[in-house]
This record gives sequence, structure tokens and C-alpha cells, in this order.
Amino acid sequence: MSGVPLMRRRTLLAAVAGIATAPLLASPAQAAPPKIYLDPGHGGTDPGAVGNGLQEKALTLDIALRTRTVLQTNWDVSIRMSRTTDVTRSLSSRSSDANSWGANVFVSIHINAGGGTGFESYIFPTAGAATQRLQDDVHAAVLSNARTVGAVTDRGQKTANFQVLRETAMSAMLTENLFIDRAADAALLARADFRQALAVGHARGIARFFGLA
Ligand SMILES: [Zn+2]
Repeated sequence: MSGVPLMRRRTLLAAVAGIATAPLLASPAQAAPPKIYLDPGHGGTDPGAVGNGLQEKALTLDIALRTRTVLQTNWDVSIRMSRTTDVTRSLSSRSSDANSWGANVFVSIHINAGGGTGFESYIFPTAGAATQRLQDDVHAAVLSNARTVGAVTDRGQKTANFQVLRETAMSAMLTENLFIDRAADAALLARADFRQALAVGHARGIARFFGLA
């Protein structure tokens, strides 16, 4: 799943570059910034996974808020979030909010559980080339940045029929950032510098997808 052949990748990049530069040529001053929707998993009455004294809902919110800050500090982007505090949001409200806002990408941030270790990412099984490239870019950037802080296993780029991936109208992906019930993973997740590295990874991957320098 992880490898797009080089020739095909170049073609995809050229195609996306063509789409991205067309409005710039037409009216450089009015090119709209990319609309990025960040979705911190769970929240409010739904803590998500819990383990080692940590709650998924708090970690996902922290990583998403950091991702927003990194994006806004470094690039001209428009960002909306499904939540910015500890509140309950249904899955359908997240996808419908992103759809009605007209997001260009949707990135849902989660923490894994169940006894494994490491990082993995998901897109919808029938997602197209652009979404596959979004996954390529974010997956690689999160891994490389996370590994500047600690050892992180690459569990791979996967597909799943998740509701937020199925019901969103734009390129959408979901990241599972280590395992809250694995002591070594939880020790990393408890560190602010590690969560910052995860955020920088998400931000850089999204920026690369949009061709932002
Ligand atoms: Zn989750």
C-alpha cells in the first residue's frame, strides 16, 4: 500500500501542480489559501482510548492544536477544527461540518490501543490518487519528525471504511499516533516535545501536499 511507483508519482505531482498553479496565473493576489480541516478524535463524554494515565481525547486535541499553530505560523492557510476544547462531537457532525465549510483536506488525529506499537495511517479503500498522495505525504512526514524524538515503528499506510473517511467529500485521512496502552508508546505521548514533533509532521505533510514551500 505504501509505494506509488516513481513514474506514476511524477505524473500525479505534475497534474496536481498544474491544478494548483492555474488560479495563481489567473489572479496572483487572490489565490485562496488551502482550506484544511483538522479533526481531533473523540472529546467530551467520549474519552477514546485510555491507558497509562492518559486519555486519547486530550492527546488528540493537543496534537491538533499544535498542528494548527505550526501551519498558521509557517504558511498561508485557512484552518477549521471539529473542536478546539473538550466537547462532544458526533462523527456525522464532523464530516458534515467539513463538507459544508468546503474543506480541501480533512485530517483526523487519533491514538491507537489494543496492544500494538507505532504509527499507522488510513484512507478510504476506494480513495483516489490525490488522497493517496495526501496519505503518502503526511505519513512520511509524521514518521520522520516523530523519529527525531524517539523510536517509532512504521505500521504502514492502510485503508479502512471509517465513517469520517467515507462521509467526507474531500481528500481525507486518519492517523493513529502510537498506542496509549503500550508503556513505551505512552511514555513518548506524555512528552510535549514528542507531541510537538507529531504536530510538525502533520503540518509539514499537509503543506507538502499543497505544494507549500
Ligand atoms: Zn480514536
